[in-house]
Amino acid sequence: MSKKLFKKIVIGMFLFVLALLLIQLAYYVKIQLEKQSNHEKVIQYVTNDLSYATDSLELEADYINNWLESGHFTNADTGRLYERASLIYMQLGENMTYYRYLGYALYYLEQSSEKDYTVNIYLDLANFHYNNYAFEDAKKMIVAAQNVESFYKIKTIQIKSYAYRMLGIMAINDGEYDKAEEYLLESQEIVTQDADAIYASAYVAINDTWLARVYYEQGRLDEAQALIDKYTDSPFFTQDAYHEIMIRDMIIPYYQTNCFLTVAKEYDLGQDYIHLQKENSSSVINDFVAFCEETGYEKCALNTLLTIQDKYPIENPEMTAQLYEELNVLYNSLFEKQNKDYANIISSQVNDSKSSMRESIRINNTNKRKTKLFITGLFLIIMMTFTFILVIMNNRYDGLTMLFTRKIFNKDLNRLKRAMNTYAIIMIDIDDFKKINDTYGHPEGDKVLQRLGHIMANEAKSDTKAYRYGGEEFVFMLGKNTAEKANNLAERIRQAMEMQIWDFASDIVITISVGVSSGSGQTDVLKQADDNLYYSKHHGKNQVTST
Ligand code: GH3
Ligand code: MG
Ligand code: MG
Repeated sequence: MSKKLFKKIVIGMFLFVLALLLIQLAYYVKIQLEKQSNHEKVIQYVTNDLSYATDSLELEADYINNWLESGHFTNADTGRLYERASLIYMQLGENMTYYRYLGYALYYLEQSSEKDYTVNIYLDLANFHYNNYAFEDAKKMIVAAQNVESFYKIKTIQIKSYAYRMLGIMAINDGEYDKAEEYLLESQEIVTQDADAIYASAYVAINDTWLARVYYEQGRLDEAQALIDKYTDSPFFTQDAYHEIMIRDMIIPYYQTNCFLTVAKEYDLGQDYIHLQKENSSSVINDFVAFCEETGYEKCALNTLLTIQDKYPIENPEMTAQLYEELNVLYNSLFEKQNKDYANIISSQVNDSKSSMRESIRINNTNKRKTKLFITGLFLIIMMTFTFILVIMNNRYDGLTMLFTRKIFNKDLNRLKRAMNTYAIIMIDIDDFKKINDTYGHPEGDKVLQRLGHIMANEAKSDTKAYRYGGEEFVFMLGKNTAEKANNLAERIRQAMEMQIWDFASDIVITISVGVSSGSGQTDVLKQADDNLYYSKHHGKNQVTST
């Protein structure tokens, strides 16, 4: 293959690879642009308030899921959409899905630079563990949140206030009430920076509720009562878009503290303070327990009653019996509920494993298909390149002698004619070749052709090209060479051929007749060389004739 052709093929392949890279780059740019335009939409979407109605919540969850499936988002935006969806599932009471989506959100947010929102999810998990009375796990989540970002560095006011509130709640649990007060006041202070935000009044109410609890624990009963009274007719007790969250974060702790306060005061006065199932003015505990049963916070009710019984022991046997009866009801209901939850967790675990197994097999198969497709594509490209090279080689080179073909000779000749330079042509015809074929057979005849081709190829230089002109006729074309050089070459070839030894007949001498001619432009050098060859043939063969 000539260097030029090789260069062309390499450039072609390079352009092909470049085109592939450009397509990839264009795709990458398109995705980046889509992510950017989606970012604005996501931010706008997640700052909208949740809707109230169950139907529209379900539609919203579907909308987020479809959006996530069809679009491209940054990790941070994907995380925030999952977080939003998790809130919806919580509101719908689909707890398993809620936690699963929190996990998805965490996965994406942890890979992003959105530290605040990652912290937010850990806080939610801490809050869950706290409400489930798994305090050690709640602490672990707080530590995980702090590992993502120190709380004083949190930029999003809402999340920063939430973080300090959770520290306060955890401190109450550890009996460190001064510290708890400090954290809760800090949380309160932080939220004032965002006073106009929709969530702000809810956050203030939540913090006040927990502060009331701190004051109760510290014996500052009047201050506690003042905070409780502040929210007697609060709109947060009625249904709103984040009602489930308000139940968890405010309403339950509010009623609980109210119970503690009422009991403490009545105990001090030596009054009957339990009043379970009693229709009188002090049915605070009764209402609280009923509310807990209604909302699924039986654990909290049980814990509250046990705490009260421990702190303010009852001696009245009738009341003790009432208390035990209620504890029993709560215990059974809780036991049943926990069993159901556990069964739910197990079935969803089984379903998850099944679907994740199916998914991994599907991905595996897709990957296999992709690899197969890639290998087939690669194979096809290699085959096409190979065929392309073969076709070009066939066109340019004679298969038997590997000299250039007559087609190339014609092209080169035209070019030389146009260039107007002097050039020379040497025409060669093997003498009595028919006889060789007839005597020794065609395969031996082929060997003679090959040998002559070989001798000629050895003489070929950059400006001297050798061609197989036809059957047993060969040509040299000398670009800018003088006639004398051509004559010398012709004579060298003639002598070389004459001296060859042939394995199929040791005594045979095979010769060639040669015609040489030179000229330039439109002079018919080829015809003249052919005539000269004819002359050699008819004047004894094995000779060079030139003009
Ligand atoms: P002359 O000395 O006048 O050239 O006599 P010649 O026998 O060589 O006559 P001519 O040039 O006409 O012979 C051409 C022969 O070359 C005829 C054909 O059988 C043979 N030939 C052409 N191509 C091939 C080939 O590829 N292989 C073989 N073995 N023979 C070929
Ligand atoms: Mg011939
Ligand atoms: Mg011949």
